Amino acid sequence: MPTLFSKIISREIPAQIVYEDEHLLAFKDINPQAPVHVLFIPREEIASADALEDRHAELVGRLVLAAGRYAREAGIAEDGYRLVMNTNEHGGQTVFHLHLHLIGGRPMSWPPG
Ligand code: AMP
Repeated sequence: MPTLFSKIISREIPAQIVYEDEHLLAFKDINPQAPVHVLFIPREEIASADALEDRHAELVGRLVLAAGRYAREAGIAEDGYRLVMNTNEHGGQTVFHLHLHLIGGRPMSWPPG
């Protein structure tokens, strides 16, 4: 099912895109939870982490690696950051196009609420 993230990929909806390649796109979260809050999404429409298949293994790796590169370039890697994939209802997922949150630039607590 196409979501608003597909419309960001096709440029029907504007977003602050900070990185893209043939596999994925990264853009700033519209409601940032920290000084750095970027979403990394595959171009392929995958609803959630629960819908991932073995053939997506490399793609998931690319998302994580792109987030790590961005964190280093943003200067938050040494202090640390959080990578989050909210999954389905109990995970708090609201947009059903797989996305990896990169959140950082401030200390964070654990466990989540
Ligand atoms: P999740 O709750 O994990 O599904 O996260 C969805 C995220 O998408 C939330 O953090 C929203 O703030 C963010 N979001 C929703 N609409 C947009 C948009 N148009 N541009 C950028 N981020 C968005």
